Amino acid sequence: MPPVAPEEFPPPFDSAEVIGPPTDAPDDRIEVGVAIVGGGPAGLACAIKLMQLLEDEPELTEKLGEVPVAVIEKGKTPGAHLLSGANMRPSAMRELFPDLDPSDWPVYQEVTKDAVYFLTSKLAAPLKPMPPNFRNHGNYVTSVAKLGRFLAEKAEEAGVYILSETAATKLLVEDRIVRGVRSGDRGRGRDGEELSNFEPGSDVVAKATVLAEGTLGHLTYAALDYFDMHGADPQTWELGVKEVWEVEKPLDRVIHTLGWPLRWSAKHKEAGGSFIYPMGEDKVCIGLVVGLETSDATFSTHDALQQLKTHPFVRKILEGGKRVAWGAKTIPSGGYWSMPKRLAVPGMVIAGDNAGMVNIAELKGIHYAMHAGMYAAETIVDALKADSVNFEAYDEKVHNSVIEKDIYESRNMRQPFSKGFFLGGALASAMTVTKGAFPGGHFKQEHDSEVAMTIDRASDKYPKADNELTFNKLDSVFLSGNATRDDAPNHVRIQTHVPREVAQTWVSMCPAQVYEIPDDQLAGDAAEVDVHVTASNCVQCGAITAKGGRLTLPEGGDGPLYQET
Ligand SMILES: Cc1cc2nc3c(=O)[nH]c(=O)nc-3n(C[C@H](O)[C@H](O)[C@H](O)COP(=O)(O)OP(=O)(O)OC[C@H]3O[C@@H](n4cnc5c(N)ncnc54)[C@H](O)[C@@H]3O)c2cc1C
Ligand code: SF4
Repeated sequence: MPPVAPEEFPPPFDSAEVIGPPTDAPDDRIEVGVAIVGGGPAGLACAIKLMQLLEDEPELTEKLGEVPVAVIEKGKTPGAHLLSGANMRPSAMRELFPDLDPSDWPVYQEVTKDAVYFLTSKLAAPLKPMPPNFRNHGNYVTSVAKLGRFLAEKAEEAGVYILSETAATKLLVEDRIVRGVRSGDRGRGRDGEELSNFEPGSDVVAKATVLAEGTLGHLTYAALDYFDMHGADPQTWELGVKEVWEVEKPLDRVIHTLGWPLRWSAKHKEAGGSFIYPMGEDKVCIGLVVGLETSDATFSTHDALQQLKTHPFVRKILEGGKRVAWGAKTIPSGGYWSMPKRLAVPGMVIAGDNAGMVNIAELKGIHYAMHAGMYAAETIVDALKADSVNFEAYDEKVHNSVIEKDIYESRNMRQPFSKGFFLGGALASAMTVTKGAFPGGHFKQEHDSEVAMTIDRASDKYPKADNELTFNKLDSVFLSGNATRDDAPNHVRIQTHVPREVAQTWVSMCPAQVYEIPDDQLAGDAAEVDVHVTASNCVQCGAITAKGGRLTLPEGGDGPLYQET
């Protein structure tokens, strides 16, 4: 059957649905000073910095009212929806907490030794000299879920209100000025009907709104459309699947691998690699991150990670151990050319992953998100002091910062890998050494959903679950602590009768087994098939939005309850 691109079957969703004026009567609106959507590194760093700055601004604090700063977070607790490597550059932690010693940060250890291996199906060859983008000396291994809880505690101590289990589902805009957000309804049934515990959402109006929603931000992408803020190229994403293992022997270094089991050919475009990080004496994490521009509809990052663990080199690290945590999340990978052309509009700024602030060549985003949150706080305080909601100074701050400098230097790094590993790797090395000057120019990239999909053979090699080393998707979802109600409305928007290639793409790609083709249709040879959706399995990784559908927001508190991812 001819290849077909998922973008030809757009989801039943219009971003205008989630933008509009406040609808609650003025007396019923919740008023806050600054509303921050997202309790990740960007949002929480912004909240803490705001409170630090407000200490010296009693007049402004008074003007901001009883709730000067509120963080709206959809996870059950802060950190519940956070997942990362995480090998963190310390610059933002140092800046935000100048009086804290790293021994007081929620980190496992400083990186003193690291290595990169190229894998074939049996061998692991160390890459020497190590490509510079993999050097991690002086960074710290952390869990971003733990970091989120730590930052939330610090924020609350400083007087920030954290509204967990609350999804911001609508951006409130009047006269093209952002006025806040509306929180989602709770207690609706499968068909949207009001259940006995129904509670309507509320308008949360604010003098300033910070969108720090992370990868594939729901309101952010609607705002990019509405305010015409999209960058030069479409955003692209990689999907990361991660496990935490208790192990018998401590790991003495940070490891990255390239090569097997990914097929880096120009045909299959499985660009990515693995990370294996020590987490103290008795734990390690292992994750596989792969670009969503893959073209084989049977490719699954979840199952390729299971395959990777059967490699003798990796198996030895995990030997005698036990898997204790699992999760999945996307990471924006488009880099400089995909960043929004503006980061501020009247009343609102965008900070962190949702603004594409990730250096994918180094797999780094945490410190950029935190720096961006701090710049946002500085800009907002300066503007509000002058009774202004013009936050354009934030664009300038990001432009002149380490964020844009680093991301500009690696601006063409990802696109060459669509030419295959060897040519792509050679070009990427030249770019690293010359800080992006060679070959220069602008390597264009397409949206992941524009890639034409074929049903090929990636899945032939995936191992069966043995429940010791390898696991199936449903067991993985269970370990994520996912607690989405079975009778909640379906928050995943896709077309449900599509070409087999598109349906198979979604079935294989989703790490949480949300999509299924009914058995009789799977066995048949019809060109088009149905797709059944079990939305309660969804861990909100975001991949479906990258590959032709749309993840909307379920009820606050639904989704995973990550502890140490
Ligand atoms: C597999 C993987 C490995 C990575 N490894 C590293 C690494 O080693 N080092 C590194 O520096 N970076 C790494 N990153 C990137 C890093 O994790 C991100 O750049 C960073 O977490 C971005 O922070 P953020 O605050 O912008 O977004 P997030 O961390 O995604 O936080 C966003 C928060 O907003 C909440 N939210 C979103 N929308 C709404 C809404 N509408 N209403 C309410 N709440 C909402 C979410 O629940 C979430 O808690 C990795 C990422 C992945 C996926
Ligand atoms: S349905 Fe949920 S878990 Fe599955 S790919 Fe989409 S966002 Fe990820």
